[in-house]
Amino acid sequence: MKILICFGTRPEAIKMAPICLALSQKNIPYKLCVTAQHREMLDQVLEFFGLVPDYDLNIMQPNQNLNVLSARILADMDAIFKTECFDLVLVHGDTTTSAMVALAAFHRQIKVAHVEAGLRTYNKLSPFPEELNRQFTGRIADFHFAPTEKAKDNLLKEHVDKSKVLVTGNTVVDALFITLEKIKNGFSNNAIENLKERIGFSKRIILVTGHRRESFGVGFENLCKALLEISKRQDVDIIYPVHLNPNVQDVVYNKLSNIANIHLIKPLDYPSFVWLMSKSTLIISDSGGVQEEAPSLRIPVLVTRETTERNEGINAGCSILVGTNPSKINAAVNEFLKKEKFQCEINPYGNGDAANKIVDFLQTYIK
Ligand code: UDP
Repeated sequence: MKILICFGTRPEAIKMAPICLALSQKNIPYKLCVTAQHREMLDQVLEFFGLVPDYDLNIMQPNQNLNVLSARILADMDAIFKTECFDLVLVHGDTTTSAMVALAAFHRQIKVAHVEAGLRTYNKLSPFPEELNRQFTGRIADFHFAPTEKAKDNLLKEHVDKSKVLVTGNTVVDALFITLEKIKNGFSNNAIENLKERIGFSKRIILVTGHRRESFGVGFENLCKALLEISKRQDVDIIYPVHLNPNVQDVVYNKLSNIANIHLIKPLDYPSFVWLMSKSTLIISDSGGVQEEAPSLRIPVLVTRETTERNEGINAGCSILVGTNPSKINAAVNEFLKKEKFQCEINPYGNGDAANKIVDFLQTYIK
């Protein structure tokens, strides 16, 4: 049984790393392929978890659109499948990498397992292109590792055979716990030490992230307006690791530079980001992963989107969908900062044993 694990972006790497580690721990061989749909941000994650790819497609080119990217991934994966035989390919979530690797495997009649399966908005334009990527990957997949019961229900409604769906929790919680343990045991790095020195952490920290295509333009401009308003409070420091996408960088640096309590910084490596989350009072973010991680740290997330495929956190009171209307964001921030205690008691996205469940399932399948 030859297994290939394939991913391309930072969040996929964070969420697939626990599976790689669990496979190694159980002495189950696998090969790792990265498309490097993100380069710098991906490499930091690989290094932190000690993962060395067997294949690195280094796929990105300047101004490459989604069609060209998709065509390159298909062709490059086919070249790999031509030279080495695999029985099972594991892909993750909703990226162009996941969808195209799944398609390349399907064309070669290789089985596909989909990690973080079954998330849906059922609006193919939101998030774009992720919603279609995950539905497409789900149609191809032979095995579906659903993070929650809701995700499983979505798959069953789409007539996926229930014996092929396993509810595992989200592997991002595994990654978070692995990282918190390392921090507890003394892990630090330059980014963490620089943050301590630069910011001091005497005020309450509001952590901000944003990267979604659906918010490019007006969405990010509105977020900046909201942050400018929030920065008038003297009891908070706003820390914003700005995503490397120029559609984000241009607006954010243009609108928010030189404000004393808004700290615009480069995207953080994963352990530094986890450390910073653990020091924060409130997070404002459009990130899926952050919505899934924050409940384990008991930190509320204001989600700057109009819809989310992660309703479990909203229903449990761990996050609030605020959209990008500046006054709505401000009102929610002020409301949360008044609260003494945050209500979210359990993390609806998992408890840290997802990777083991997935590997146990694979072991039965391998036998
Ligand atoms: N993250 C990180 N550094 C940062 C911002 C986020 O390592 O500066 C991590 C975060 O902990 C989470 C993941 O990146 O696990 C989320 O990635 P992103 O928001 O880019 O994508 P999404 O989760 O929405 O797919």
